Amino acid sequence: MTAQLIDGKHISQQIIEQVKLRVEARHERGKRAPGLAVVRVGEDSASRIYVRNKLKACERCQVNSFSHEVPASTSQQDLLALIDRLNRDPAVDGILVQLPLPDHIDSDAVTDGIDPSKDVDGFHPYNIGRLMLGLAGLRPCTPRGVMTLLQRTGITIDGKDAVILGRSNIVGRPMALELLHAGATITVCHSRTRDLPEKVAQADLVVAALGKPHFVQGSWVKYGAIVIDVGINRLNDGSLAGDVDFEAVRQRASWITPVPGGVGPMTVASLLENTLQAAENRDPDSS
Ligand code: NAP
Repeated sequence: MTAQLIDGKHISQQIIEQVKLRVEARHERGKRAPGLAVVRVGEDSASRIYVRNKLKACERCQVNSFSHEVPASTSQQDLLALIDRLNRDPAVDGILVQLPLPDHIDSDAVTDGIDPSKDVDGFHPYNIGRLMLGLAGLRPCTPRGVMTLLQRTGITIDGKDAVILGRSNIVGRPMALELLHAGATITVCHSRTRDLPEKVAQADLVVAALGKPHFVQGSWVKYGAIVIDVGINRLNDGSLAGDVDFEAVRQRASWITPVPGGVGPMTVASLLENTLQAAENRDPDSS
């Protein structure tokens, strides 16, 4: 068996096109364009690339973007003051603070400082709580993107045994909740998990989000499983690798996401969907 590729690049372009059409429809009804503020602290080179991709995607959808680049030496108080100004700015519907932040800044305090109605990353405890309860809200972008990939590929989740590798607040945990709501039976693995290959071997659906290049071995994966690789790891030669040994795993899986071109572009597309959703929620005529 050779797995079929889940083409995140193509699906993300479809999503971005849909957002663009909905933004154009807003213009026709006399409504303003959604606005996204992106805050980058310091000079992390990966963050620079991620932010650039997000700003480019805004341009493609005619979403207004407001880029704030602040030095790594910025104090937590000054960063919170900037967030407070953005919370009160009526032209801003979404606020994204690119992670990681410098060590002297408490990223939980920064997340808490964002108005939950503008929390387009979906990391605020209010939005995570709503996700936990299965209520509508702004959902974390990467898990939302994975759900969109699965839906658009026509993969049924209901009744599947899903194994999620990683329990971070931004990927693993919200991913588990999304899959649970969609009817999967979930197992969440982490660094303390025993017999991890055995757990993976039981899974109809594997989501790898560990940050360890080529970690998931072909021999662990059940024939016909669906494998979603969230990992983005920069190798010494400058190339990108996922958390899955792609060549070996694709010989056993039925569907697999590549890296790059799988989950990564979907995260950006979900951010744009969230920004539009935040703008619509803030329209004066929204109930
Ligand atoms: P993270 O915060 O470092 O979390 C990694 C998780 O993996 C932790 O829960 C950790 O367990 C677990 N883990 C680490 N080593 C393990 C091992 N040997 N066995 C089992 N579990 C292990 O990372 P993250 O922010 O969730 O990101 C994960 C990966 O996804 C990274 O490669 C990141 O670059 C990528 N990512 C991609 C996107 C995208 O758009 N595609 C978005 C976000 C992140 P403990 O909790 O026990 O420490």
